[in-house]
Amino acid sequence: MNTLLLNKIYDVKLNITNWKKDNLIIGLVPTMGALHKGHASLIKKAKEMCDKVVVSVFVNPIQFGPNEDYNKYPRTIDADKNICAELGVDIVFAPTPNEMYGEGNKLSNTELTFVCPPYNLTDCLCGKSRPGHFDGVATVVTKLFNITSPNYAFFGQKDAQQLYIIKKMVKDLNMNLTIIPCPIVRENDGLALSSRNSYLSAEERTWALTISKSLKEIEKLYKQGITDCSILFDTAMSILDKNLEIEYIEFRDFNTFEEVKSAKNNTLTAIAVKAGKTRLIDNIILV
Ligand code: AMP
Repeated sequence: MNTLLLNKIYDVKLNITNWKKDNLIIGLVPTMGALHKGHASLIKKAKEMCDKVVVSVFVNPIQFGPNEDYNKYPRTIDADKNICAELGVDIVFAPTPNEMYGEGNKLSNTELTFVCPPYNLTDCLCGKSRPGHFDGVATVVTKLFNITSPNYAFFGQKDAQQLYIIKKMVKDLNMNLTIIPCPIVRENDGLALSSRNSYLSAEERTWALTISKSLKEIEKLYKQGITDCSILFDTAMSILDKNLEIEYIEFRDFNTFEEVKSAKNNTLTAIAVKAGKTRLIDNIILV
């Protein structure tokens, strides 16, 4: 498989124009790289549904806060390209920040056009501790859509709030593509795969296992008929390792994103914690 690694927007657009002339169906999988089996599941889905698949690998500076891990975030482009080649990806698009945002690092909203999703969706869950994060995400995703003109774009339910916001953005702005949600991929012991798992010490990793454990218990209780979110919340609190710093445990209707007090089908149960310095998120949608 001849997988192209391209850094220039112009080169990507040239390929896309040719594919469009042939009426080919194009799939985009946006990532920040350090690819793992979670990303691979999105790519495999894209390969099933599309004639041509583009994977973007871009650690997007405008979605990181000043005290976050932008500089430290793992960058493994050679390994990423190999994984993409094995999976039959057509283009790996790995631009530099300058290529995406212009020379000179003018990255604030006084200098750059931002796409800002509704405040009600961005001031809660991850948005509460990461102000501006989802504006940065919506902006880069819009740019990637404009560069690659995909018919389908693939997003993981792992980042459930992001998935909800992107779907809303596509609808609100009449973007001409369909978002395909993909289920969370986990390690055998339940830990949701994440590029940030590489930061975890062995001890922190054992603490982190209690995140998926508590979500599983909530699912079990819900299936037994317990819907009171305060009970479900307390259950999670009792299972989460005491060494974890808990940022939130929230229950939201995944149709409307409104907070729910009594769980029902399609309730998103989302958890964010810090294990040492590493921020981890996970969730489950109750059915
Ligand atoms: P990231 O590189 O972390 O920005 O993730 C890129 C895409 O992969 C996003 O749509 C994520 O939701 C998705 N993703 C990350 N981890 C997983 C996972 N464990 N299972 C499924 N999708 C994932």
